[in-house]
Amino acid sequence: MNAEIIAVGTELLLGQILNTNAKFLSVELSKLGINVYYQTVVGDNGQRLKDALSLALKRADLLILTGGLGPTTDDLTKETVAKLLDLPLELHQESLTRIQEYFLRMHREMAPNNEKQAYVPKGCRVLPNEYGTAPGCIIEKENKVVIMLPGPPKEMEPMFKNYVYPYLRNKTNDVIYSKVLRVFGIGESALEQKIMDLIDSQTNPTVALYAKQGEVTIRITAKEKDETGAMKLIEPMENEIRRRLGTAVYGIDEESLEEVTCRLLMEKKLTIATAESCTGGLLAEKITRIPGISQCFNMGVITYSNEAKQKILGVSGETLNKYGAVSSQTVIEMARGIQKYSNADIGVAITGIAGPGGGTATKPVGLVYVGISTRKECWYNELHLSGNRERIRELTTMNALDMVRRYLQKLA
Ligand code: ATP
Ligand code: MG
Repeated sequence: MNAEIIAVGTELLLGQILNTNAKFLSVELSKLGINVYYQTVVGDNGQRLKDALSLALKRADLLILTGGLGPTTDDLTKETVAKLLDLPLELHQESLTRIQEYFLRMHREMAPNNEKQAYVPKGCRVLPNEYGTAPGCIIEKENKVVIMLPGPPKEMEPMFKNYVYPYLRNKTNDVIYSKVLRVFGIGESALEQKIMDLIDSQTNPTVALYAKQGEVTIRITAKEKDETGAMKLIEPMENEIRRRLGTAVYGIDEESLEEVTCRLLMEKKLTIATAESCTGGLLAEKITRIPGISQCFNMGVITYSNEAKQKILGVSGETLNKYGAVSSQTVIEMARGIQKYSNADIGVAITGIAGPGGGTATKPVGLVYVGISTRKECWYNELHLSGNRERIRELTTMNALDMVRRYLQKLA
């Protein structure tokens, strides 16, 4: 079965809202093993919607439309679909009652045109809307399936999950299930070298690489009768990849580096403090995104000037003069300084040149030092990053988080 997603709404074409419905539906359909060949966006215009529908009916077995089910005159999805499929609209009493009850619950007056939303194409399967007024529906006609869903994601997504997913699940035999391994600290091409044979030779599960900002993700995808079966196929492949990549694999699926690092801090009940120069607090910002981190995060300072590095962190004037603010010597003193000042278990320091100006032949833009000091030892990494100021700052922050993560994972 192959599908086309049609998002209806002039707002989408004007760029006022992002088509997150298409993204959501594509992800869900791929889990079901349904190929999405086209995503279409069309404005609130009867003729163009009709054209888009006619074309989609020629090239897809399943059409999923979102939006344009509302009560106003520019909402014309249902009317257009019904006309094209030659189905009259009929009052669906249950939906009308639901809509009336919805307005009662909300203490709002029901406008007469809300009644329009209770009309559905004859013979369709009606999908109740638990979070709004417009019901959705499933139409089966001449080997085609047309599904209409409301535009607002908070109405559309639960309707899909509760009614459409089970319906489609019945129609298809396989599910496609994926697991994503997240990798940091190894470049895409080096990574490809290590697992090239797995990428090339596998058909089920398949292995694919995606490079993202600073990190690489590996998606393992299996097709099976059910989720448990798919997981069974994925497991040995995951183990083999983990065996080859070791600690470079930091997380799975949607986990971020800061989530993993902070979770380890919380598990190990260790505290951390940060001293940042070129990242201007980005590291502290990422750490404080994680709920519950207050038990681990002591403090963060931004020591931009040499004076601040001396006064607050106790970096020596001699070190700054002799080696400069961007040096391994300075970053170590910064890390030690913040660790001592805060009395945290781990002090992390960052100093570097984010650009675009300020670089020299010996210290170019993108040269960054990240230092860590624990109660017992200190170490640092020298990074050579490329890209604009924003990217350098972001990558620096991720590298700092990763250094902390690797340290924490080594602890028993
Ligand atoms: P309503 O009853 O709220 O009018 P509707 O089914 O008629 O719902 P639209 O009028 O097309 O849907 O869109 C309503 C709102 O839903 C939009 O303003 C937007 O916030 C959201 N929305 C619509 N389509 C999409 C989409 N493809 N992706 C993300 N959000 C969307
Ligand atoms: Mg609307």
